[in-house]
Amino acid sequence: MKNFICSKEKADQVEMCVLCGAETPYKFYEHIDMRYGYVEGCGQLCEKCYDMGTNREQLLVPASLIKTISNDSELGAKVRKLYWDSR
Ligand SMILES: [Zn+2]
Repeated sequence: MKNFICSKEKADQVEMCVLCGAETPYKFYEHIDMRYGYVEGCGQLCEKCYDMGTNREQLLVPASLIKTISNDSELGAKVRKLYWDSR
């Protein structure tokens, strides 16, 4: 019963942007299909960070890239490619 109460409380909390930590307009219970700025595998972005990909000043890098590529130069090249692919 206590777990149910805890998860219900969490469901009612506002999600924070995974990139900048700002509040988003969404609560945890809101389905991701109904949201703007939710990136699968990463999480919810605020409108400023998501920005429809037009004027984006930040870039999300999958943690799997950082974990699997041990060569910094190779990782840098992949990150740069991600940047240019997103333009
Ligand atoms: Zn943000």
